Amino acid sequence: MHSGIVTNIQRFSIHDGPGIRTTVFLKGCNLRCFWCHNPETLRTEPEIQIFPDRCIGCGACLERCEQHAHVAVDGQRQFLRERCVACGRCADTCYAESLVLVGERKTVDEVVEEVLRDEPFYARSGGGITLSGGEPLLQFEFALDILVRSKEEGLHTAIETAANYPWERLAAILPFTDLVMMDIKLLESEMHRACTGVGNQRILDNAERLGHEDRPLIIRTPVVPGVNDCDEQILPIASFVARLPNLLYYELLPFHPMATGKYQSLDMDYRASQLQSPPKEQMEALADAARRVGIEVKHS
Ligand code: SF4
Ligand code: SF4
Repeated sequence: MHSGIVTNIQRFSIHDGPGIRTTVFLKGCNLRCFWCHNPETLRTEPEIQIFPDRCIGCGACLERCEQHAHVAVDGQRQFLRERCVACGRCADTCYAESLVLVGERKTVDEVVEEVLRDEPFYARSGGGITLSGGEPLLQFEFALDILVRSKEEGLHTAIETAANYPWERLAAILPFTDLVMMDIKLLESEMHRACTGVGNQRILDNAERLGHEDRPLIIRTPVVPGVNDCDEQILPIASFVARLPNLLYYELLPFHPMATGKYQSLDMDYRASQLQSPPKEQMEALADAARRVGIEVKHS
């Protein structure tokens, strides 16, 4: 039985596919979009998040850590991340929740059992399980087994992906996946590389092939100020997705500047900290422009 690193299991999700769903976030991503609002999902391994404002100075973490990653300097607790092996003992000790271990190894059975707790809600609402991330298909065997087990239990299955991996992974999961939600952030590859760390040829190839499979496909674009919040960027993406026969709809999602605290808690730089959400009128105008190519467009 495969196991994997899970960032979070979120019950009663209503934005990750139809109906009421449980979203399972798998840890690790091979893109580095500078606006990402889930930095805790980027690295593959478990890690400690630190929220200094909650610390009550009890000192329990200093005693508990065998790696001496928490030290007292001039009476102040300091964290030496390079010493940490993410065992989680300090987080278990910290009643103030100033220390949080993000990422936990779980088996497929543990994940599916947790998801099945809300089965009556899925049945009534047309919901089910959604695999998200990070990039869920980086932990390919784990993700595949969760989808297979979920289908055995009669659940509706969906996946949120950036599709930056070989096509064979998508081909393997499709028989056990009822809905694919895929991001296309930019059509121009060098700009895509500058903003996300990777070119997009493989992503577009996978979108093209997905678009001709017998599975409903939702393509989504996060609208980020200064990156793609203009007709010149959105219209080519809309034209590209309009060619995909099984497109359910195209969706525009506004950037939200709400991740500053999470980046600080992980000692990571947040390059989008000065950006604001696109105004609602701008989202409406972009959606109207995308509709001109003859597709259904949603936005929030
Ligand atoms: S255990 Fe938590 S509250 Fe106590 S000193 Fe450490 S971080 Fe602060
Ligand atoms: S997770 Fe483990 S190694 Fe890391 S700081 Fe906490 S107790 Fe130390």
